[in-house]
Amino acid sequence: MSDSSHEIFHCPYCGAILQKNAHYCSSCGKEVKFVECPSCKRLQVASSNFCRYCGKSLKLSAKVKKNLSKLKNLAKKPLKKE
Ligand SMILES: [Zn+2]
Ligand SMILES: [Zn+2]
Repeated sequence: MSDSSHEIFHCPYCGAILQKNAHYCSSCGKEVKFVECPSCKRLQVASSNFCRYCGKSLKLSAKVKKNLSKLKNLAKKPLKKE
């Protein structure tokens, strides 16, 4: 079973049903952002704290992302040799 093409998203502000690729709620006009769950890769409203599919924390993923970019920056920095 892999019927993920028919996912339904709800506006976190007014609860209206949104299109998957919508950036603004057509009902209340608020900006709606979607994030991909780092665990199950499914899209959901960015303001949620936890993935509605697998229950993993979405806030944690942002932190991990930050750490990753930090590591990248460190790797980019050329080592100074004297
Ligand atoms: Zn709305
Ligand atoms: Zn998930």
